[in-house]
Amino acid sequence: MPDKVYVTYNQIHKLCQVSADKILKDVRPNLMIAIGGGGYVPARILRSFLKRPGEPNIPIQAIGLSLYENLGRSDPEEQPGTKVTRTQWLDLSSLEMANLIGKNVLIVDEVDDTRTTLEYAVSELEKDVKLAQKNLGREAEKTTFSVFVLHNKDKPKKGKLPETMTDAGRYHAAVTTQDVWICYPWEATDIDEHDRLAQESYI
Ligand code: 5GP
Repeated sequence: MPDKVYVTYNQIHKLCQVSADKILKDVRPNLMIAIGGGGYVPARILRSFLKRPGEPNIPIQAIGLSLYENLGRSDPEEQPGTKVTRTQWLDLSSLEMANLIGKNVLIVDEVDDTRTTLEYAVSELEKDVKLAQKNLGREAEKTTFSVFVLHNKDKPKKGKLPETMTDAGRYHAAVTTQDVWICYPWEATDIDEHDRLAQESYI
């Protein structure tokens, strides 16, 4: 397998389509949280396949996370390693976080590489929604989190997801790949060349 593979919009559309049935069966999401920027397009496509006649469109909220290497120089208390920062988050004090309470929330990203991002997103959202439930006296309502990614790289993961999520089938990857670099169409500056390279790629 080459160390770089190219994926087209059409392939991504179809990956969302084939995943939708399983997601509807196992998750029945009523809200999606797209991790920007890679989760936006898959979340939007998936929404079309999750729509059921007579039911409203599933709303999509966006969060932004960024990875950085902490060298442990500025704060000796902090362990060196890959860290995550929030560049965009849901507002705890407004309706944004309260909106998650009691829902089946599907977190969408394009790729699960080291799993650092997903671990952060799931654990922080769980923590914040718990706090919002406590503040609003709505602790009895059950909020569940699930994950959908287009590609999961088959490699040792640095991040962990709750076993309650993985055991219950609430983690879904459309494709499990080897540890290759995946080039997504929304990153392309020349989409025709990207699509040409995709014809030579396999995944
Ligand atoms: P993580 O290592 O936390 O699972 O992934 C962090 C982020 O790195 C992903 O959300 C994605 O933006 C980026 N990333 C990781 N692997 C790939 C890849 O193969 N292709 C692209 N385009 N981005 C990747």
